Amino acid sequence: MTLRCRRCDTPIGLDDFIYIAYYPHTMGANRIEVQYECAQCGHRGTRTLTQAAWDELMLRYLENDERTVDEWLATQQLGPITAEEIREVRRALRHENILESLREWERTRDKPQNME
Ligand SMILES: [Zn+2]
Repeated sequence: MTLRCRRCDTPIGLDDFIYIAYYPHTMGANRIEVQYECAQCGHRGTRTLTQAAWDELMLRYLENDERTVDEWLATQQLGPITAEEIREVRRALRHENILESLREWERTRDKPQNME
């Protein structure tokens, strides 16, 4: 699963996302809408992914990325990303057991923080 720019076919990276919206569905057919801006040509596009495709995409990105999910989210000016969306990412990662740093991330998440 690779996301590519519709105009110039450049692979879309983690930092190219400008908006992620998560649409849960009771029957499990969750949809994730992502908006990206191509780093190469500046084209803005929207893609709607299945939960499975999204999970696969995130896992692939984070496997090749030294940042944790938390660090990535902190650098993003994403739209209204909700706690549920973060939980979904976390669930996917825990399931695949890929990131060592995830446990640390979860610890800091569960603690009350003075974040504004
Ligand atoms: Zn492009």
